[in-house]
Amino acid sequence: MAQHLSEIKIENELLQDLLGLTRAGLTDTVRNLGAPEIHAKTLFRRIYKDLSINPWSEPTLPLRLVAVMQDKFAVRLPQIKVAHRSAYDQSMKFLVGLGDGREVEAVLMPEKARLTLCLSSQVGCAQGCVFCHTGRMGLVRQLSVAEIVGQVMLAEHWLREHPEWLESTRLAPGTRISNIVFMGMGEPLDNVEAVIDALSILTDPYGLALGMAHISVSTAGHLVGIDRLYDAHPKARLALSVHSPDESKRSRIMPINRRWPLTDVIGRLRERIGESGPPVMMQYTMIAGVNDSDADASALAALTVGLNAKINLIPLNNVEPSRLSAPPPERIQAFRDVLHQAGIRVMVRYSKGQDIAAACGQLVAFAKKPSAAELG
Ligand code: SF4
Repeated sequence: MAQHLSEIKIENELLQDLLGLTRAGLTDTVRNLGAPEIHAKTLFRRIYKDLSINPWSEPTLPLRLVAVMQDKFAVRLPQIKVAHRSAYDQSMKFLVGLGDGREVEAVLMPEKARLTLCLSSQVGCAQGCVFCHTGRMGLVRQLSVAEIVGQVMLAEHWLREHPEWLESTRLAPGTRISNIVFMGMGEPLDNVEAVIDALSILTDPYGLALGMAHISVSTAGHLVGIDRLYDAHPKARLALSVHSPDESKRSRIMPINRRWPLTDVIGRLRERIGESGPPVMMQYTMIAGVNDSDADASALAALTVGLNAKINLIPLNNVEPSRLSAPPPERIQAFRDVLHQAGIRVMVRYSKGQDIAAACGQLVAFAKKPSAAELG
């Protein structure tokens, strides 16, 4: 008798997903199945390098292991529900459907020789930054390791199926994702254990083999998460959202600052990594009349002392119906000059994917403009 679709679905859900396993986890799994550990490397390579969803279809694997794998395991990718292409810069925004019907967003951004994927770490976010719509959703749930890594694999599979998109960019045929930024939905360090395992998988030489220097983990300043991340991955790269060097103003726009003031976060970074450690990217969204004065620039410069810091100035994306706007070009230039004269590496960056609301803090677009009181 033919099997009913819902039975197949339930069976599929009972299968263990290989995608969330680090190579150490996969090695344990293979060993527990009574097979030599060496086969974990083969399976890992098949999943991540060869993009196979049946990684056991490999002649070098023992037949007994293949049979158990087929029976008990799966490689389950999340689904692309909508793929939207930006006419502005060719970024691709994916609405990603998760197993429980929830959705997150991931954005693929071509840039010179790089192909960067911006991915999500949570459904929603508990931090409630006033300029960010994701924050207004509150935290719905954490993403699993498989769901985080799954966004990368989903984009890799999409790339393989859409060579015409690569052709339309200036990237060479066959280009794969070279950089990852955890700047989509969620505060990654609020889900730090999953992010730690995801980094282990993404940087594994038997898999995607991305360099740690090519992955940025953003944070609004989660002190406990920072400690945990550097304990696990001392070379991890952080992108710290500063947005205001003034504690009271920052507390109004980023409530996390009330729990972990910026001064404490910067102090901890100086202790943990100092000037000789991995670079810290300070993200600074520039908002006209709010945080764009020369005094703000000098205070921002002071934060970089004792760190290997770079600063990204990001003129605010003007998204309706917000009345907030980016400063005029000459103000951005003057602000940049103050930092430059202080010897700081600073770049003005315009967010990619502006017309598809894919820039940081816009993943679900602004729903309500922050009030003047919120912004101080
Ligand atoms: S900016 Fe980041 S940390 Fe703040 S609410 Fe949005 S997603 Fe959360």
